[in-house]
Amino acid sequence: MNSCIFCRIIERTSPGRIVFEDDEILAFEDARPQAPVHILIVPRKHLASLNDATAEDLSLLGRMLTVTAQLARERGLETRGYRTVINTGSGAGQTVFHLHIHLLGGRVFHWPPG
Ligand code: AMP
Ligand code: ZN
Repeated sequence: MNSCIFCRIIERTSPGRIVFEDDEILAFEDARPQAPVHILIVPRKHLASLNDATAEDLSLLGRMLTVTAQLARERGLETRGYRTVINTGSGAGQTVFHLHIHLLGGRVFHWPPG
């Protein structure tokens, strides 16, 4: 069995509440939501973190951002505002080592993030 939980969700061998998918990207609800909207946007390709992205991934990274914006619009967050986060490395709070964008919305966010 694949040791990466997000790869298992992509392969449908672990459960996930999937809200979007295409040939390159999957999005699913975070299991421990930190806001009323908390969705993870994940590439099908296993990249452990943003550190592993190269020029080969240019269009994939762009598509991940446009999918994030589309999901935010669908949830009515466009004018209210939303937070997008990529944690890179354990020092920044990364706990799952498969690249993902957090889409958080539905409450007020403060800055700096802590
Ligand atoms: P990060 O700490 O940036 O690596 O984010 C990992 C996120 O994945 C956390 O917000 C977790 O709650 C979430 N997570 C971990 N396992 C699962 C899972 N099986 N299904 C959905 N979300 C998960
Ligand atoms: Zn993976």
